[in-house]
Amino acid sequence: MRTQQELRNQLRQIDHKGYKAYKVLEGEYDFGTYRLCIDHVQGDPFASPSRVRIVYFNRRIIPGEYLEKKHRRIAVEDTLLRRLHRALGECRDRERKGSGKSGLVTACRTGQEILERTAMHVAPDAIEARIEVGFPAFGRTIAADALADILFDLLPEVAERAFSGKQSPEMRQKQGTPRSSSGFGRSGQMPLAKELEAAVFLADNQEYIREQLVQQGLVAFVADGSVLPRESGVSQKPLRGAVVFNSPESLAVTMELPHGGTLRGMGIRKGITVVAGGGFHGKSTLLKALERGVYHHIAGDGREYVITDAGAFKLRAEEGRCIHETDISMFITNLPTRTDTARFSTENASGSTSQAANTVEALASGSTVLLIDEDTSATNFMIRDDRMARLVSDEKEPITPFIRKVRSLYQDLGISTVLVAGSSGDFLGVADTVLQMDCYVTKDVTARARELAAPLTEEKADRKVWIKKAVSRKNIEKARVHGWDSLSLDKTEIDLRYLEQIVDESQTAALAYILSYTLGKLADGKKTAAYLAEEVSRKLEKEGILSVTPRNYGAGAAAMVRKQEILACLARYRLL
Ligand code: ADP
Ligand code: MG
Repeated sequence: MRTQQELRNQLRQIDHKGYKAYKVLEGEYDFGTYRLCIDHVQGDPFASPSRVRIVYFNRRIIPGEYLEKKHRRIAVEDTLLRRLHRALGECRDRERKGSGKSGLVTACRTGQEILERTAMHVAPDAIEARIEVGFPAFGRTIAADALADILFDLLPEVAERAFSGKQSPEMRQKQGTPRSSSGFGRSGQMPLAKELEAAVFLADNQEYIREQLVQQGLVAFVADGSVLPRESGVSQKPLRGAVVFNSPESLAVTMELPHGGTLRGMGIRKGITVVAGGGFHGKSTLLKALERGVYHHIAGDGREYVITDAGAFKLRAEEGRCIHETDISMFITNLPTRTDTARFSTENASGSTSQAANTVEALASGSTVLLIDEDTSATNFMIRDDRMARLVSDEKEPITPFIRKVRSLYQDLGISTVLVAGSSGDFLGVADTVLQMDCYVTKDVTARARELAAPLTEEKADRKVWIKKAVSRKNIEKARVHGWDSLSLDKTEIDLRYLEQIVDESQTAALAYILSYTLGKLADGKKTAAYLAEEVSRKLEKEGILSVTPRNYGAGAAAMVRKQEILACLARYRLL
């Protein structure tokens, strides 16, 4: 490890030289309270910024018992990353000069969900933060002073504010200097210990509810007082002035939380739950909250106590997707073209075939709950009413609608369904529980629905999980992410718009790495896509996301994804 002085000397030597000279800085430097690791220097000022790690020595700042369980560790890491962000925001009032990404200092962005991320890792002895720094230049000429500013001034202060848990005398003194005049003392940071405790306790409560779902035979819990609607279509912040959630008495369960008393809320039982109600009464909003309930949310989100079985998968139609040799014969047989639906392929799926493939993939990735909204489903995949069945006989209709399989999916395979159905009464006949959303108030209308229900033809579902054997692709050079809903491997784009449980751009980034790794290192032309998704998920679970990212400096902005999303992403790769 080199000293700070050595770093200063080197900076002086390369000042005003060509940009490539920055490369000599790669290495590790002793900054007293932390180690600064310059892992990778960008090739030019316009390239993706340089990768830098701060390895802050965790001298009992983080209590050991916060790191023993995974859900606690993730909560701690999430808290520290958010603190790092705030500290960066507070210290970034200096102006940024130079070309390209000169002077940019960023860390992975966070949203409402608490996800395991590569940006922050906490071990008993160290807090390891990955940040990106745009090494400054004018044109392609090194501006060493500007980098010295960042490395010797900005980062030490940011690290101190985010991780130290104390306001040291030196820091207070520094308040006289221009940057600190923005007010270290007045900074918005809650004391570290308090903030960590709050996050860990919330995570404990959430994890406890998750365990209780299993104990009590529930697929989801929605606490009274939850705020489900979001501020807008483009903001995941809670809607202000919303009608807060309140469980109907018949479905109410109580949770004795490990911290902070008793929580009452609605327990959605295993089996088939239909959410009925008029248009605009809050049905989709409830379902959306359940979709995201596979993740934990931050305090103040409004959904922090909306917890859904982690194996819940949102199913929808997705016209235009590709399908590779997938067995959709459970739902579709006897196509007029005599196509073999046990090995169905298309570059351009219809609404119903896409939803059939989505369902088969959900089963193949071990999903335990299917979440379906009629708004985004193919009607002919979901139902065929009596009159239509009489007009067009079953032998002439290639589609066995979902409604005929949904009971067997539960009874034979143990897969529950929560379905929003405002317009088809047929579903009342298969439901174990019927909820009605009435002006955003949830009611249990199961008894009344039973009276109205008509008998239905049911058919057996089986867990057919055949999906194509993936070819090996060792030569993928560029995996790129375009926002949260699309990525590309070389020139082939994978559209993730309809995978609604990908909630963060960093998950998309992780998927890009995971796919490149899976296709390059695991696929051999003999393993099916489902097998590969399982295999790589196990690796991620054991060794983390960094185990699949290329090169030694890793990825600073990747977040954990489930097996479900991995398989879905693989299946949408047009060159699988
Ligand atoms: P539906 O699916 O029943 O047609 P939505 O769930 O799409 O209805 O909700 C319709 C509108 O009502 C949305 O703009 C949503 O944000 C809003 N909304 C949903 N739930 C609530 C609530 N609890 N309080 C206030 N507004 C809500
Ligand atoms: Mg709706």
